[in-house]
Amino acid sequence: MAVDLHSHSIASDGSDKPTRLVELALEKGLTALALTDHDTQAGVADARSAATGTGLELIPGTELSLEYDAGGMHLVVLWLEPGPGPLQDRLGKLQGGREQRNERIVKILTDSGMPIDISEIHEEAGDGSVGRPHIAAVMVSKGYVPDLGAAFEEWLGTGKPAYVGRPRLNPEEGIALARQSGAVPVLAHPHTLGISRASDMADMLNRLREAGLVGLEAIYSSYHRHEREGYADLARRFGLIPSGGSDYHGTYKEGLDVGSGYGDLVVPDSTVDELRSHAKGT
Ligand code: AMP
Ligand code: ZN
Ligand code: FE
Ligand code: FE
Repeated sequence: MAVDLHSHSIASDGSDKPTRLVELALEKGLTALALTDHDTQAGVADARSAATGTGLELIPGTELSLEYDAGGMHLVVLWLEPGPGPLQDRLGKLQGGREQRNERIVKILTDSGMPIDISEIHEEAGDGSVGRPHIAAVMVSKGYVPDLGAAFEEWLGTGKPAYVGRPRLNPEEGIALARQSGAVPVLAHPHTLGISRASDMADMLNRLREAGLVGLEAIYSSYHRHEREGYADLARRFGLIPSGGSDYHGTYKEGLDVGSGYGDLVVPDSTVDELRSHAKGT
């Protein structure tokens, strides 16, 4: 039996409704699906009602981008119950930071000869949390770049001309807020940290573990088998639980399926029980 502990819906930068994600997970025969939209839990209620009465456990979550200059540090937060709470209360502020960032990106693009109105980005995003993939999609539809990848490589990616940072929680703070909220923090796709030296990785994992990190995403769509095994070993050596998920985004990440990733992803359901033992109030 398999699970998927990382996915995005139209509540952030996925293209499918939360209810559709639940359908896809059921079609794949998954026993659990975590909805981890960036900085929001707006899709959880719909996903939960769709999962009620099925064999699928819907795990409420979110994905945070943490303060880290050397690359991207994302935290998948599992069993975060929507409603008031230490981390839940911060999500609204993080949304505000996104809005200001998006306006600045749109201005840079417009000044660079690619006129875009912020309303076009909102239209692309629907009601959800607005992310760079939405801006990338508008750039593609206006013919400014050939595809989403090019939009990031040429303009929106870290360090590129239209890259604009936004306020983020620092790693210790993000992890602590997740734990204080009874949730289970997992370091997402660890390759994006950009750490190649084993001793540097050890220092980082020790630091995050001491802050309260529980899991490390080892079984990730884009990883080869040896990488999945390597990250799972690494997790165990540092007292972390190997987690896994597809990072499904619908049409915003082509070729990826819920549960099975690029076809070979299998996250065992024992992962859920192990991670859940660190959640409070479930
Ligand atoms: P944001 O949360 O608005 O900063 O945007 C982050 C989103 O952009 C994530 O969902 C990533 O999957 C996506 N993203 C980041 N870098 C790239 C890239 N180089 N190519 C495609 N998508 C990317
Ligand atoms: Zn995303
Ligand atoms: Fe991520
Ligand atoms: Fe993600």
